[in-house]
Amino acid sequence: MASSLLRTLIPFDIYGGMKLTGKYFGKVLMQANRGMKRTHIVVEYPETPVTLQPRYRGRLQLIKDEQGEIKCVCCLACEKICPTQVIIIDKGKKEGRKTPYPTRYDFEMERCIFCEFCVESCGFDSIILNHQFELATYNREDFAHAVDGQFQNMYDITPVGHYSVAAEE
Ligand code: SF4
Ligand code: SF4
Repeated sequence: MASSLLRTLIPFDIYGGMKLTGKYFGKVLMQANRGMKRTHIVVEYPETPVTLQPRYRGRLQLIKDEQGEIKCVCCLACEKICPTQVIIIDKGKKEGRKTPYPTRYDFEMERCIFCEFCVESCGFDSIILNHQFELATYNREDFAHAVDGQFQNMYDITPVGHYSVAAEE
């Protein structure tokens, strides 16, 4: 730890870092000039929508199937693996449904670290981290999401952000 801190503080390393940054900055400028493009590094959001990468991790969202049913079958894998324990599920039943139904799926977004462990652990493709990035709010209560949440429920996207998603490479 101490040695890595020292290494960071040695001027030679700082010089090396700045040299590398300068090299890539110059490269970007050269490419932009060759293509006669304006070098916009800052996006004038929200007037100009941003382009998000496909793997961007936004808000946790429950997925529904073609019949409009919540896909979650309450295996509890996501609840158990979540390192900050922000998911609470109550296993229940729903008339006409063979698999268990989450009568409660609470998600406390204020403590979510967007690690995506929950999504990776779900063997039923029932949850995703969607592309919602405008997640700020004035009230802490608004970070509490649930199956039937007041502010935002767990399966509908609230279209607050102006964005498009880049194609997969
Ligand atoms: S992204 Fe990580 S912290 Fe957030 S709910 Fe999923 S497992 Fe928990
Ligand atoms: S891992 Fe998937 S199926 Fe299991 S409880 Fe979580 S969302 Fe539901």
